[in-house]
Amino acid sequence: MKQVTIIGGGIAGIGAARALLDKTNNVKVTVITKDTFYLAGPSRPLLLTGEQKYERIIRGYELLREKYKDRLDIRFGLVDKIDPAERKVSYKETPTKPEEGEIGYDYLIIAPGVVYDGSNIEGYKKHWHKIANVYDPGRIDTLRHRIWSVKEGNVIVYAPPMPYRCAPAPSETTMLLHTVLKHRGVRNKVNVIHVDANDKPQPPVIADIVKTIFEENGIELITNRQITEIGEDYIVLDNGEKLGYAVLSLLEPNRAPSFIKEAGLGDKWVEVRSPQNLKTIRYDDILAAGDAAKLPFPKNQEIAYESSLYAANNILEDLGEGEPYSVQYAFLGWAYLGNPEGRLETLSLKFGLNFTTKPPKPTKDPELRQEYTKAKDQWEQAYLKNLFEY
Ligand SMILES: Cc1cc2nc3c(=O)[nH]c(=O)nc-3n(C[C@H](O)[C@H](O)[C@H](O)COP(=O)(O)OP(=O)(O)OC[C@H]3O[C@@H](n4cnc5c(N)ncnc54)[C@H](O)[C@@H]3O)c2cc1C
Repeated sequence: MKQVTIIGGGIAGIGAARALLDKTNNVKVTVITKDTFYLAGPSRPLLLTGEQKYERIIRGYELLREKYKDRLDIRFGLVDKIDPAERKVSYKETPTKPEEGEIGYDYLIIAPGVVYDGSNIEGYKKHWHKIANVYDPGRIDTLRHRIWSVKEGNVIVYAPPMPYRCAPAPSETTMLLHTVLKHRGVRNKVNVIHVDANDKPQPPVIADIVKTIFEENGIELITNRQITEIGEDYIVLDNGEKLGYAVLSLLEPNRAPSFIKEAGLGDKWVEVRSPQNLKTIRYDDILAAGDAAKLPFPKNQEIAYESSLYAANNILEDLGEGEPYSVQYAFLGWAYLGNPEGRLETLSLKFGLNFTTKPPKPTKDPELRQEYTKAKDQWEQAYLKNLFEY
């Protein structure tokens, strides 16, 4: 019986756990994750318009634990160290689980997602409370409060340099903020500015449509500029330009948690052998999956899940356990582009990328449709059901 330890109870961590447990009785899996719940990412932006509710996208781990009985142990704790030589993972207590400890492993899968790191932005420590975005639950609530009460001034949305998790989320935020302002009848007194550190709104496959929609809706787009300083009511860009803000929706540059670098497994992301072989460069028994892994693809839910199946396949192959999962890197996505008329009925763009061809094959429907917003909801709910329920 092999012990597989997984850091992170999200899309990739639970995806890999279930993939292993469903295929073989010869592994015991321990998932160590920091929160006692999981909150899905994709529809968080719709919390701004009230089209999504927290209770529809939150799940606990109890059903999962019951399904797999003693073959799956789920522990709650913040992992802060990996010791590859001793094959040990250390974790700190969390408020609801006041214990700290160590877990050993025969195989370790690292899947803790990303850290939002604004430490290189001057003034970040002092003015952190000025920042809100759609990425963290509390900050979404702050952003919702601010956008529903702002009366005038600049609303600034910032996308950091790629790679960051969910490429379209900053543009989605911009259009949803525009929608709420229009709905409230104050859009003509509030400027909406989208600052992008990249050369175009992300992902590139939909940039042309996003740019056109920004233009049509009077949204100022600034590209190739990073925010280097945050003040009480202003930001400074890397060309020295200073912009005042009434509302700031900033996403910090993303990286993997620092215990990865400290264990020598990669600088910003976990270095893996290839997208299909997710073993780390130095260790046969340590793998990575999901957003924390350095993959040549966007950081999104489909890719995270697909990488978790590849990681499971890598371990199953070592153990000589049956047929591998059939998996390829490709995704279909839906970007929320708000409602230009200010109705709280979000229209979405459908797009996709297939990485099995070279160059990757893009697809998109340039028409914005409300049915795509509904399709995204069904897709997200199906993921939550398949991963967290039974
Ligand atoms: C606002 C937003 C919008 C998004 N929109 C889309 C979209 O439209 N389409 C799409 O495909 N994807 C979207 N995504 C991205 C998608 O949610 C992620 O790519 C996916 O969740 C990555 O899976 P993961 O397992 O790597 O990370 P996660 O699902 O985040 O799971 C990581 C887990 O590890 C835990 N953890 C973190 N650090 C530690 C630690 N030190 N110790 C223990 N546990 C730890 C976390 O609590 C979490 O449970 C969006 C994400 C967000 C936030």
